[in-house]
Amino acid sequence: MSFTFAIVGRPNVGKSTLFNRLVGKRLALVDDQPGVTRDLREGEARLGDLRFTVIDTAGLEDATDDSLQGRMRRLTERAVDMADVCLFMIDARTGVTPIDQMFAEILRKRNAHVLLAANKSEGSAADAGVIEAYGLGLGEPIRMSAEHGEGLNDLYSQLMPLADEFAKRGQDDTPETEVDLDEDEDFDDEDGASRTPVPTLAKPLQIAVVGRPNAGKSTLINKILGEERLLTGPEAGITRDAISLRMEWDGTPIRIFDTAGMRKKAKVQEKLEKLSVSDGLRAVKFAEVVVVLLDAAIPFEQQDLRIADLAEREGRAVVIAVNKWDVEEFKQDKLRDLKEAFERLLPQLRGAPLITVSAKSGRGLDRLHDAILRAYDMWNRRVSTARLNRWLTGMLEQHPPPAPQGKRIKLRYMTQVKTRPPGFVVMCSHPDKMPESYSRYLVNGLREGFDMPGTPIRLTLRGQG
Ligand code: GDP
Ligand code: GDP
Repeated sequence: MSFTFAIVGRPNVGKSTLFNRLVGKRLALVDDQPGVTRDLREGEARLGDLRFTVIDTAGLEDATDDSLQGRMRRLTERAVDMADVCLFMIDARTGVTPIDQMFAEILRKRNAHVLLAANKSEGSAADAGVIEAYGLGLGEPIRMSAEHGEGLNDLYSQLMPLADEFAKRGQDDTPETEVDLDEDEDFDDEDGASRTPVPTLAKPLQIAVVGRPNAGKSTLINKILGEERLLTGPEAGITRDAISLRMEWDGTPIRIFDTAGMRKKAKVQEKLEKLSVSDGLRAVKFAEVVVVLLDAAIPFEQQDLRIADLAEREGRAVVIAVNKWDVEEFKQDKLRDLKEAFERLLPQLRGAPLITVSAKSGRGLDRLHDAILRAYDMWNRRVSTARLNRWLTGMLEQHPPPAPQGKRIKLRYMTQVKTRPPGFVVMCSHPDKMPESYSRYLVNGLREGFDMPGTPIRLTLRGQG
C-alpha cells in the first residue's frame, strides 16, 4: 500500500518541518534522485502503519519576490499532479493570507484529494487561525504543530481511509520501506490492522503508566501482561529509553509505554541500561491516556503532583490509580482522605477518575481498564456547534457574564475547534476583561453539560476583530 503525498503551501508555514518529521533520518535529497526536479524534495515517509512517498515543495525561499508567486503556482501544480493526496498547510499563527487563498483555489480547481493543516497550532495564539482555516472550504483543518509533533494522530486518521482507497485501486507495487521513527508519535500497527475488537479504536490506545519509583508500575504492567495476550514483543524505539508493548487488555488493543517498569520482565534491559530521568515525561508525550500510579501509603507526593500536572498541561486524558490498596486497613476513611487530597492538590484535574487497585493481586484492574476507556472517550468528544450554542444560551441566562466598568461582556458564539483534548473558542466582546472565575464557570459547565469530567478542556476567548 503506497501512495504519494504532497505537502503544499506558501513558504515558511512549516512544510519542511513536517516533511522531516515524516521522513525521519532517511531523508532522500532530491539531488540523489535522478528525475526529480530540484525544487521538489522527495522522501519515504512512515506514519503509524502507513508508508508513502512524500513530496515537499521546497526551494522557494531563494526565489526573488516578483518571480515567487508564479514559481510557487507552477511548482504547486506540479506537486499536486504528482500526488494522490495533498496536504495544504497554512500557518495558524498568521491566519489565512491572500496567497493561501490562491493555493486553496489551485487545489480546488485541480480537484485533488486535499487535507488541510493549520500548523504552528501549539498554544492558544493559533485558535483564530484555526477558525479562519475552516473558511477555506477545504474541510476541517487538522490542528497541527509540525515542530512539536502534534496533530499527527489526526493526520493519520484522515489519511488512513484514503490509503485504503488507493490500495483498492491497485497501487500496491512499491515495496515497503522500513524507516526508523524519529521520536514522538508512534502508533505502529503492523499485524494488528485487522484486530480491532473495540470498534471505536482504529488503532491501539496509547497508555503511559507514570509515578514515583516503587509505586508499582512494573507490577501493574506485568500483571496486565501476565493475564493478557501480548501482540508483539517488547520494542525499543520511540525514544532510546522508553519501550512500548502492544497487547490486548480485556479486548482493547493497547500500546503501553513504560519507563523503568516492565523492562525487567521484558528482558530488554541490556539495551536500555542507561535510563533517562525524563523518561516519565516523554512517556506522557506519547500517551493518549496517562495513568498516574500512586502508592496508597504515600499518595500525592511532590513528584506525583508534578507529573499529574504535566499530563494535564500536555492535554492528556488522566486517570489516577491508587495502588497497594490490598494493604490498606481502613479503606473507607482512606478513600475519603484521598479524594479530599486530590481535590485540594490537583484542582486542575477535577473530576478525573480515581481508582483504587492492587497491582499485586490484580484487584481493581477491570475498573481501571474501564476508567481508561471512558477517559479516552471523553478526550475525543466532539460537541456540535448547535448543541454548544444552545447550552451557552442557558449558561448565560443562569449566570450572566460580568460588566466590568459598566460594560457587559457579551458572549456571542461558541465552537469546538479541536479534540484530544477538547478545545473550544468563544467569541466575545472585551475578552481581556473576562474574569478567570467566569471562564472557570464555563469550563466546569462544559464538563458537566457534555459529560467530560476530568478531561483537560481548553477554552479560548476571542474578540471579534
Ligand atoms: P516551509 O518553508 O514551509 O518548509 O517551512 P519550514 O518547515 O522551513 O518552517 C518555517 C519556520 O517555521 C521554521 O523556523 C520552523 O522552525 C517553524 N515551524 C515549523 N513548524 C512549526 C510549528 O509547529 N510551530 C512553530 N511555532 N513553528 C514552526
Ligand atoms: P515501580 O518502581 O513503580 O515499577 O514499582 P514496582 O512494580 O517495582 O513495585 C515496587 C514494590 O511494591 C515491589 O516490592 C512490589 O512488590 C510492591 N507492590 C507493587 N504493587 C503492589 C500492590 O498492589 N500491593 C502490594 N502490597 N505491594 C505492591
